[in-house]
This record gives sequence, structure tokens and C-alpha cells, in this order.
Amino acid sequence: MRVTAAFSRLLALPGVWVRGVDFQDDRVVVDVVLRRRRLICPQCGYSTPSRRDTRPDASTWRHLDLGVWRLEVRAPLARLTCPTHGVITEAVPFARYRSEFTKDFEDLVGYLATTADKTTITRLVRIDWDTVGRIITRVMDDHLDPARLEQLFEMGVDEVSWRKRHKYITIVTNHQRNQAVWAAEGRDTKTLDGFFDELGPERAEAITAVSMDMSAGYAKSVRKEGHATKAIICYDPFHVVALATKALDTVRRSVWQDMRRLDETAAKRFKGARWCLLKNPENLDDDQAATLRRLRRKGGELWRAYSLKEALRAIFAGDLEEDEVAYMLDRFCSRASRSGLKPFVTLAKTIRKHRSGILAAVRLGVNNARHESLNRRVRMVINRAYGFHSAKAAIALIMLTVGPVTHVLPHERIFSPDG
Ligand SMILES: [Zn+2]
Repeated sequence: MRVTAAFSRLLALPGVWVRGVDFQDDRVVVDVVLRRRRLICPQCGYSTPSRRDTRPDASTWRHLDLGVWRLEVRAPLARLTCPTHGVITEAVPFARYRSEFTKDFEDLVGYLATTADKTTITRLVRIDWDTVGRIITRVMDDHLDPARLEQLFEMGVDEVSWRKRHKYITIVTNHQRNQAVWAAEGRDTKTLDGFFDELGPERAEAITAVSMDMSAGYAKSVRKEGHATKAIICYDPFHVVALATKALDTVRRSVWQDMRRLDETAAKRFKGARWCLLKNPENLDDDQAATLRRLRRKGGELWRAYSLKEALRAIFAGDLEEDEVAYMLDRFCSRASRSGLKPFVTLAKTIRKHRSGILAAVRLGVNNARHESLNRRVRMVINRAYGFHSAKAAIALIMLTVGPVTHVLPHERIFSPDG
């Protein structure tokens, strides 16, 4: 077999033939020419047989490594005149628009990004993290299931913080499929409006339930004309318990500050109490359990706050029916409002105001806690997204990991698993 023919098989790129191979110091550059006769606009797919001219320099794309060598594909490209996009460089079948990498290379990076950390990827593939971000954005655009917004009846909407300084992403999930189906930067009414614009009024009307936290922004969007006006809004018990944990932490902080004024050494010891208070008791280690027992003996505000939080958690931890939860929740609210602890008085007010939505979540079983594994994966991904500079890249990482995407690796594309 001649070298060019051998490289043609080796590259396994669609629509090209190999003209020559150039061995350089640190890489192998393979010269190819496109096999097709018509030129295609990379933006809209318009095709024409006539070329305007040829670009003065050949373009190169990085392809999958060849052993220890970088492998590059080089091709002279023609330009065409697209009626919509004007004079534009023709599309190639093996790479995405404006990319310096082949699709095979990008698909590999897209898969790696969902399973490996930053250091592993940048070292293995030899590209920087922001380049990974741009690659996975293109992979997402290409591979997200276009039908992801179909058959959406029970949905959840949630915010995650992806960078310090309050940068947020809103994620919409399909509860029945346990998948993220949409994500965008921001976390207010306008952010979710963007989702409904994309969904359209017909599909929005089919939505029966929306679960969310108790901040007002998302609910306002759901209730807008043309959005999911008929859907039952469910306030996720998971978020209700999270509010109680926050209230407990506020009490703890004020107790600690009072203590520090009186007794610096005791305050220092107490500082470690934070985790034993905020963790679920069944997850405490021996030392933390001992600290908790000491706090219990001491009693006072902090123990009262702790018991309230645990009582609320217990209401939602079991398999209680809606009317049982309603009864317990009302009892909790009156206990909390009489507790003399300001954060818990406020919490009781919030719960009363959102009571029917909380109970709807219990009745319909529509809540994010049901998707603990999905939440866990989102949190893991978000930790990695911290290194990105653009929200787009963070969104791509989320959608490629927990969205409806089938990752096909280059060798799987060529050798089907059955073959
Ligand atoms: Zn075009």
C-alpha cells in the first residue's frame, strides 16, 4: 500500500483524499484535498458548484494524535459566495465551523470533559482549559438531542453558582427523564422567560408541574401569559430544609459572636461545632457526635434551633402522605414562630406563604431530591466549571454531562460495537 493510501485509511476522515505526508520535528502533517465538487456554506448549508477563489493559505486542523506525534490535517480551501452570508470559506465535512480541530478530536474532548478533571484533560490532550471550553460548546451544539424539549410535562428549575462572586446558571430538568434539558446564564424571571420563548406556547401549555425553590423570580415567569399558566407550582422540600439549615447557621453565628465577646477560648472550641450542626446526625463521626451531645446538655438557643431544623427534615425524610405532612408542617410553623429565634420566625412565615406549593410537591412527588444523583453530578461538574472564563463553557459542561447527549467516540463511529 502506498503511504498516501495508508494515511487515508489511518485518518479515517470523510470526504478527503490524501495527497502527501510531511514528517516534521514534533508532528506529522497530512495534506488532503476535498473530494466533493460542490462548495458548501458552513453557516447555512447552501451549496454551489462555482468557486469564487481559493484562500491564499491552506487551513490546518489538529486531528487525533498518532502515537506520541501531533497529527495535523492540511487542506487548501475555496471560497464561495453565499446569498445569505456573502463571501465565505467553504465548509469541510470533518471539522466544525471556525474550529481548528477535527470533529473526531473534539468529540473525544467532549467525552473526556464529562468524566475527567481539568489537569487530566489538559495534560493528556495538550490544550488549555479555555480551549476545552470552546470545543465542548461546539460539541454540545452538535450533539444535544434536538427533541429534548418534547414530552416535557413535569419540570424542575434550579440555580447553580458556577463562579465566585454570584455568577449563576439556571438549569431546567425533565423530571420524568431525569435529564437537564436547558440551561442559561442568570437566575431571574428573565432567564426563565428565555426558556419559555424557546419552548413556545404549545409545549408550555402541556406542562403540568414545575418544581423550584421559593425565590419569586421563577414563579413569576411560569405564571406569565403563554407560559405554563396551568402548571402546579411545587416548592421543593429539599429547598425548604435548606432554608432551615441556613436559619440554624444564622443562630449559630450569633451565639458564637456573643460567646467570643465573653470567652475567647470557649468560642474557639465551639467554632468546630459548625459541621456537627449542619450535617445530618447519621453522618457524624464520633467526635462530632460527642460535640453534639455536649450542645444538647447545654441546651439553650442553639439546641432549640438544631431541634427545629431536625424536626423539619424529619417531616420530609419519611414517606408521609400529604395530609400528615400538612399537619406536621403546621405544628412545626407554630413551634418555630414561638421559638424566639428570629431566623426561625421568618422561616415559619415563608413556609406558611408557600404552604400549598410545598404540599403539592409532596402530593405529586415532583421534587429535586428524587434526583439526588443528578444533583450530585451537577455539583461535581460545577466544581470543574470554576476554571472556565465563560458561562457558555460552563453550560456546555453541564449539558454534556447531565443532558440528553450520546457520546460517540471516533473509534466507535468507525467500528460499531457489534462489529
Ligand atoms: Zn450561508
